Amino acid sequence: MLIQRGGLKVVVGLGISGVSAVNFLVDAGYRVAVTDSRETPPGCEKIPANIEKVFGSIDEELLLQAEEIILSPGLPLDLPEIQQAITKGIPVISEIQLLRRATDVPVVAITGSNAKSTVTTLIGQMAQAAGKNVAVGGNLGRPALDLLKDKPELIILELSSFQLETTSNLNAEVAVVLNMSEDHLDRHGNMLNYHQAKHRIFQQVKKVVYNRDDALTRPLIPDSTPIQSFGLNAPDMNEYGILRDTDGTMWLARGRERLLCTDLMYIQGMHNMANALACLALGEAIGLPQNRMLDTLKTFKGLEHRCEYVTTKQDVRYYNDSKGTNVGATVAAVEGLGQALASNTAGKVALILGGVGKGQDFTVLRTALERFVKVAVLIGEDASQISQAIDGTTEIVFAKTLQEAVDICQEMTVPNDVVLLSPACASFDMFKNYGDRGHQFVKYVETL
Ligand code: ADP
Repeated sequence: MLIQRGGLKVVVGLGISGVSAVNFLVDAGYRVAVTDSRETPPGCEKIPANIEKVFGSIDEELLLQAEEIILSPGLPLDLPEIQQAITKGIPVISEIQLLRRATDVPVVAITGSNAKSTVTTLIGQMAQAAGKNVAVGGNLGRPALDLLKDKPELIILELSSFQLETTSNLNAEVAVVLNMSEDHLDRHGNMLNYHQAKHRIFQQVKKVVYNRDDALTRPLIPDSTPIQSFGLNAPDMNEYGILRDTDGTMWLARGRERLLCTDLMYIQGMHNMANALACLALGEAIGLPQNRMLDTLKTFKGLEHRCEYVTTKQDVRYYNDSKGTNVGATVAAVEGLGQALASNTAGKVALILGGVGKGQDFTVLRTALERFVKVAVLIGEDASQISQAIDGTTEIVFAKTLQEAVDICQEMTVPNDVVLLSPACASFDMFKNYGDRGHQFVKYVETL
């Protein structure tokens, strides 16, 4: 590998992506230092012993010696130490930027407020089914730089707004912002900044996929860039969408061509139809054969904690949507399950909601709650703020623990109802992470 310059690379923030960045840079022959505000940051045993390390605080002096700073996505760009380095002209980049510099392998780049992991995993499986030597990771699963170890012919990257904030000229083969709803406003300050961070994914992009149902996903790009859309209405020629038969049967379609009856997929709910269509459009952009993609859609079972069916107790179905950490995801889950209930039975949704609200506007939930929810059981730090925002839409009950919330839902449901954990919030006030929250939910449900 070519060593560009001899200057010092300083990695700020360890954790999974920091460890990967340090090791990548050391292997590439750079002079590397690392600093982290934690005394014993996670992964500190996984990096070489002989590099300079400053733990317990972010070392301003060290940052000012850097030729370049690699900022972990877990840390905000507006940290005073980082801002000071920026004013001194020191570039601050992400590990994604290092990846882009290190390889010419085509990248499929995926971001959005929701559905990133589902779409990244699904398109990864489609590429694999098409016989591609594909590496999948980024914000999900393996850190981006580790993917190079596979010597892939294609890289599929899930990217967060935090990673994109410090990534320039990604030059993706194809890129998509799947959808935009309020999230992470505690870090980005407002929707405009969040939107701008997400749209950095399109810098120097070769082909674009966008969501017709969400104008905020469509980029401003030169007319010469090929662009294709997906959406939940009937598609125009060459676009992806849904065709409906008079008996209500739905088909994934490209233009007028019916590709797959949606009953043949395990993943359900209109939001998952959008996800499947997004994958078909992305796959087309990188030349995946359509039959391989459709076969994959027939076998893909979805991911844990995303509207995942848990069990049925006394004719009440329980769903774990612990990854529903923002209002957009919760609206999708409530509408998806609620519409299915409304068309088949008189059942309603008992919803467990709450946690750390991240500055979101919870009034966005009101319509879905009014239509489909019989009771909202509120937990966590921002329960009272949520209760004010949804006041008058449905019955509201407060619970101190998740177990109590599950018990209340059981008491308040009747056969054909659904109990749904879809908190619209982060989990760290009461749980280790969303996975822990989901597993605890499943445990309490199973003991009912
Ligand atoms: P991300 O990686 O963007 O967080 P996930 O695939 O992990 O996305 O899903 C996160 C949450 O978003 C889950 O609650 C899931 O049910 C919900 N979700 C999935 N697809 C969509 C969509 N197209 N629109 C809205 N919510 C969605």
